[in-house]
Amino acid sequence: GSGHHSTGHHHGSRPTYRDARLPTKARVADLLGRMTLAEKIGQMAQAERADIDADTSQITSLGLGSVLSGGGSVPGSNTPEAWANMVDRYQRAALQTRLGIPLLYGVDSVHGHGNLDGATIFPHNIGLGASRDARLVKKIGHITAIETRASGPQWAFAPCICVARDDRWGRTYESFGEDPRLVRRMETVIDGLQGRKGQLDRPDHVLATAKHYAGDGLTSYRDTPTDPNDYPIDQGVDEVSHAEFARLALSPYPDAVRKHHIGSVMPSFSSVDWTEDGLGNPIKMSANRELITGVLKHALGFQGLVISDWRAIHQLPGTYADQVEASVNAGIDMFMEPFSGDPVGYPQFISTLTQLVNTGAVPMSRINDAVRRILTVKFKLGLFEHPYTDRSLMDTIGSRAHRAVARRAVAESQVLLTNKRRTLPLSKRAPVYVAGGSANSMGNQAGGWTLTWQGSPAGVIPGTTILGGIQQATNAPVTFSQDASAPVPADANGVVVVGETPYAEGPGDVAGPSWAPNGVQTMQLSAADRAAIDTVCSQAATCTVLVVSGRPIILPPEVVDEVDSLVASWLPGSEGQGVADVLFGREPFTGRLPVTWPRTLDQEPINVGDAARGKSYDPLFPYGWGLTTRRR
Ligand code: BGC
Repeated sequence: GSGHHSTGHHHGSRPTYRDARLPTKARVADLLGRMTLAEKIGQMAQAERADIDADTSQITSLGLGSVLSGGGSVPGSNTPEAWANMVDRYQRAALQTRLGIPLLYGVDSVHGHGNLDGATIFPHNIGLGASRDARLVKKIGHITAIETRASGPQWAFAPCICVARDDRWGRTYESFGEDPRLVRRMETVIDGLQGRKGQLDRPDHVLATAKHYAGDGLTSYRDTPTDPNDYPIDQGVDEVSHAEFARLALSPYPDAVRKHHIGSVMPSFSSVDWTEDGLGNPIKMSANRELITGVLKHALGFQGLVISDWRAIHQLPGTYADQVEASVNAGIDMFMEPFSGDPVGYPQFISTLTQLVNTGAVPMSRINDAVRRILTVKFKLGLFEHPYTDRSLMDTIGSRAHRAVARRAVAESQVLLTNKRRTLPLSKRAPVYVAGGSANSMGNQAGGWTLTWQGSPAGVIPGTTILGGIQQATNAPVTFSQDASAPVPADANGVVVVGETPYAEGPGDVAGPSWAPNGVQTMQLSAADRAAIDTVCSQAATCTVLVVSGRPIILPPEVVDEVDSLVASWLPGSEGQGVADVLFGREPFTGRLPVTWPRTLDQEPINVGDAARGKSYDPLFPYGWGLTTRRR
């Protein structure tokens, strides 16, 4: 078993690890030397907020290293104050442990702190990719960091640096685009989140997470529902050569590690199955020692911590002990094992790993490596000196200045796909008729990862809908009729806002059960949206269709024919005014497609460079497409 290490008492003086003047390395070494095996393994465990909230003494008794909110807000009150009080309450329990090691609190701030009431909600990554604006994306990272840390959490599970290659994947919108070069360009978001080296301890920075390592966007789509060997596109299998994997899965990581000093990395739920060895033997990323330890830690020199995804190790073969052994030995440092009775979670993780160390199945050197990484991050975040929430920036959450940046990002993310007879920008003198299911829906324009994991069309957060933005932008009368049942004035410009309803993970917006392997892919206009387009476009003076969606949706040729101008609006977030800015020419259209827009669903997967690789490439709009307008 594990003896109680000598604590090397320094009677009357502070222990070395408490001395902020000393280099982090020395402090980590000192603290590590004082820790028992139980204290070390506790650091490697991360619990879900909902599971410890009623009994925070578990944080103390188990010495938990971290707590997360797995999507979701604070029950009851969801204000910054409530968030900070909650995180601080858990922190108090952590500081009661023998060594007083502070807790790390993680959230999915993937487009701003989406779970916080009143936060600035930015466009999802696909829209930021359309902007091509690396400086703006860095700013967005910085504001996200401020709004996250000022409300308590010091860790964001963002950015997703996936390269999304098949739009049928329900996480396509978490990607900056289908071209790895574009994804790499947008990694400036990490600089915004973390600041420069040495700035992590400031109240305006958080630890960032590059996810999901690697190949989360490269899974194959297998959609024969009767085949028992089928797997879903989300959390599925990359069937690729080593060269393709390097090009489309690994290539965003060297810059993330070496240039942007990413503090943590989350392995993907997906597997890789090398086509060239013909073995048909997919290996889940959580057990991929070659890629986690070999490539990430050794070859790339990653010094931060590797955090497993939500219950991801449960997908490995064998018993729970086999799963823990394989994933710890593969190089995962901290384990998102959220629920104690699910049927196993963080308490069982701790007891299982303790046994594995005692039997020698997991070497002590591996535990020390993991804990060293976790402690290093906690020192760098300044948590030993300032464990509680610094509220000095709390007033800036959702501020005008923050929203102005989001509004600009929305404007820059809009992609003008067609513009017959130069319909756009619209005149501010002509009446406007607005219709469509997403015209006045904050929930739809914010998408998934907003207030709840899945988001909701009924979600209401402070901000401006697209309709609200239009109403503020023009002096002429605006008629809103969601289903276009109100009479359409013949001299009106018609703006029909259509698209997807919110979703997160899985196959996305599907007809039927969303957790069926691949569901029934829609990526289609709903009947109601289609009818609204037909009604408005046949009667109004001009008609503009805005598509609010996490990915391209299939537009029948008749629709493309009947509309005057067509805009990809993506999932713009809380500032609908940004959409109105480009519609009325306050800002020019400059966005360009970050993904290829297919004509039909069966063209998927369709990506830039296909033609050069001998595949056909005949999309509705190619990668990089986007018309421009002038200011009006
Ligand atoms: C997702 C991660 C996320 C985690 C925590 C998982 O289901 O794959 O991206 O960070 O949940 O919410």
